[in-house]
Formats: sequence, structure tokens, C-alpha cells
Amino acid sequence: MTYPFCSEDFKAQPYWWDGTPSSPLRDRELADETDVLVIGSGYTGLHCALQTAAAGRSTTVIDAQDAGWGCSTRNGGQISGEIKPGFEALRSRYGAGRAHALVSEARGALEWLGEFVESNALDCDYSRCGRFLAAHNPRQFRRLESMARHQPDGLEQSLRIVEPGDQASEIDSNYYHGGLVIERHCALDPARYHRGLMQLAQAAGAQVHGHCAALSVERMRAGFKVVTSRGAIVARDLVVATNGYTGGVTPWQRRRVIPIGSYMLATEAMDPALAERLMPHHRVFSDTRRIVVYFRRSADGNRLLFGGRVSVFESDPVKCLPALRQEMLRIFPQLEDVRISHTWMGFVAYTFDHLPHLGVEDGIHYAMGYCGSGICLASYLGNRLGMRLLGEPGGGSAFAETRFPTRPMYSGKPWFLASAVRYYQLLDRLR
Ligand SMILES: Cc1cc2nc3c(=O)[nH]c(=O)nc-3n(C[C@H](O)[C@H](O)[C@H](O)COP(=O)(O)OP(=O)(O)OC[C@H]3O[C@@H](n4cnc5c(N)ncnc54)[C@H](O)[C@@H]3O)c2cc1C
Repeated sequence: MTYPFCSEDFKAQPYWWDGTPSSPLRDRELADETDVLVIGSGYTGLHCALQTAAAGRSTTVIDAQDAGWGCSTRNGGQISGEIKPGFEALRSRYGAGRAHALVSEARGALEWLGEFVESNALDCDYSRCGRFLAAHNPRQFRRLESMARHQPDGLEQSLRIVEPGDQASEIDSNYYHGGLVIERHCALDPARYHRGLMQLAQAAGAQVHGHCAALSVERMRAGFKVVTSRGAIVARDLVVATNGYTGGVTPWQRRRVIPIGSYMLATEAMDPALAERLMPHHRVFSDTRRIVVYFRRSADGNRLLFGGRVSVFESDPVKCLPALRQEMLRIFPQLEDVRISHTWMGFVAYTFDHLPHLGVEDGIHYAMGYCGSGICLASYLGNRLGMRLLGEPGGGSAFAETRFPTRPMYSGKPWFLASAVRYYQLLDRLR
């Protein structure tokens, strides 16, 4: 199914896969034993594997689909190093010390990722482009102003208020009411970053297997026996790095993450002058709505990559493409005649406390729950996870020190999601 507004070469798959086709990695035989078995081959799993393999532990990474098939090759490529709850909310929950530790560790992860990409010369269009956080109404603009003026002591960062009257310097749209430029935020090509990371992990000795689903986990005296779709494997250490795709194989983790679909589209290449006018500084963009939209130009500058959530229930991305395009046209009506070349979706993992978590439960190590901002935190916490497995001092993290909550009656299927989305949509209209 396509629509009149789709290009002739329209694809229902991530735009990034055109430049970086996915890696099936289904040929190699699975070993019988391994020191470390990682379930999930996204940023979390590969960063963990890179650490353990480089330290000489035999390391096997398995994925139910092509390597990197999950969010790590389908995201928006916007890097923030921010966590969802603000400092004040965290302070009232945990006290000032822990709140400070959580925010500053997440912010530090952004620097860490930049250094990782640079020191390994990863060719992934990484750029420190800055973010324009757009206010969707005047009340939110005042909130952003106050946020910029009253930053918590010791956590100040460069924030620049853009008055509604000056907004045209950032974005060619009348939809917003001013905003905030966050200079530190960055962009990359997620699939190229994943490919470079996977090559590093493989070069360090990690074996990566696609189309190898973990089907069951059995605890043994020393380690685990994992039955996969390609045979059984015994592992001394087991890591679950499945985030929004966490399933019944690890029910404790599944009860703690809420899978939520995020949907994207890419336009066809447009007139470069039009693209340049839309967002002249090549920044990444998001807005102050609770049901947020996010967008940016492609690395060559000529396409708009636009994401968000437009349906209350999970849906086929092609089915909800008209509504997602409509959302884009509300912001950029001048794109009416620009056709759509790609659409896709993926499942991010929210948590009940809106924080990512790192830890070990019943011997199984995990890092997950990035609440839609995982490029930086999945990479960083995957790295910490690897260090913790090795018993290295660098494995400490404030994200390992908060309880990973669930809710009574929740088993991993978010029956409450549609009502929550409706409620947040209403709040977005009112405030
Ligand atoms: C459309 C979209 C846009 C996004 N935009 C951004 C953004 O701009 N910035 C940002 O920071 N974050 C963004 N994110 C979120 C970010 O991509 C994720 O948080 C991050 O990639 C999570 O990485 P991960 O390695 O933990 O999980 P994933 O990359 O999702 O990998 C999990 C893997 O586990 C595998 N798996 C599951 N169960 C099994 C099993 N039983 N056996 C074997 N394998 C299994 C899956 O096949 C999957 O490949 C976005 C996500 C989506 C979907």
C-alpha cells in the first residue's frame, strides 16, 4: 500500500538502511560454550561485548533478527545525554546528592560518546550541531526561559533562549512560540554508528550471530544454559540487552519495561534551498509536548527526517503515515509537494520511574529502559555493564543504585498505553 504523496521508490523501512544495509550474520555456527552471552545486538549489547571481548573473555552476541535490527539502526540520530525527569523531580524523589549524580552522569555520557566516536574514528556523520527545543505554546516558552535562568548549581550548561520574534533564525515555521538552543547536543547516522561499533566488537573477538533467538534460559550451578533457535549454548555470564523488545525469556525484566512504538518518515531529497531555509543550522529539533515530535535534516542536508507518535494504539507505520505526514505539515506547510520516501517504526522502552536501569537480577545482567533517548545512554550503560562483568572499578553507576520498579498486574503488555497517550495528548492541548 502506498499513497499519492509517496515517491516512486517509497520503502517501508528505515531511511538509514539505504546507506547501511542490515547484516543477517546467519552463517556462522553457534559455539557450545562461551564466557559471556549477550542477548540483543544493539548499542547496549555491542558496547558490553566490546569490553568483555577486549579483555579476553570469549563473548557471543545473539539477535533474533539481523544484527542491529532493533532501535539501534532505526532511531532519529539525535543525541542528548539527558534523562526524562528534571533535577527537581529527582531531588524530591531521591535527595539532592543522588539527583545530582544521575543528571551529571547522563550529561557526562554525552562527552564520553563523543570521545568514543572520535578516538575510534567511527565514520558516522557525528556532529555537535546543537538542539532547538521548540515551545508548543507561550506557557511552555516561559517554562523554558525559567529553566535556562535557574539551572541547578553545578549542573549549568550553555542554553540560549530564542524569543518567538527571532525564531526564524532557527526554523522556518510559525507553529512554535520560541524555544531554547542546547549547544551540546549532537547528531549521527545511527546505522553507520552501529556498523562501526559492531566491527570494533568483532575485531576484539566477539562473535555476533543474527537470526538466533534466545528461547529459554536455565540456571545452572555455574552459569546459564540458553536454548536458542540455533541450538543450546552454555554461558558463565548472561547479559540481556533487549530494551523495547524484551520478551518472555527474561520475565523479570519484561515486567519493568513498557514498549512504546515511535514512528518516523523521511522525505525525498528536496530543493536544497528549501531545505536550507527550513532549518539553516542543521540542528536536531524536538518540542515541549509530552507526545513529542522530533526532526532533523539528513546528513546531506536535503531530506527531512521526522518522528513522533500519532496513533493511540500501536499501528503499522504505513497505516499511520498519513497522520504522521499531517503532523509534519502542521509545522512545515511548505512541504505539501515534497513526497515521502520512507517510513518505519521501532519499540523504545519506557520505565515506571522514567529512568534507565543497570543491574543484575538472579545472576542475569541487564541495562535497559532508555525512555526514547538511548543512543548515548544505551552506549554508555552497555559499556558500564561490560566493565561490571569484568569487575573493573569503572563499572560504577548511579543508574545501578535506584530500584527498578514494576506495577502490580503488569506483565509486559501495556494495556494502559492508549489511555495514557490520550491523556497526554489532552494535556498537550491544554498546557
Ligand atoms: C523510531 C525511533 C526513533 C528514536 N530516536 C532516537 C533518537 O533520536 N535519539 C536517541 O537517543 N534514541 C532514539 N531512539 C531510541 C534508541 O534507538 C534506543 O534507546 C536504543 O537504540 C536502544 O538500544 P538497545 O541496544 O538497548 O536496544 P535495541 O537496539 O532495540 O536492540 C535490542 C535487540 O534485542 C533483540 N532481541 C529481543 N529479544 C531477543 C531474543 N529473545 N533473542 C535474541 N535477540 C532478541 C532484538 O531483535 C533487537 O535487535 C529511537 C527509537 C526509535 C524506535
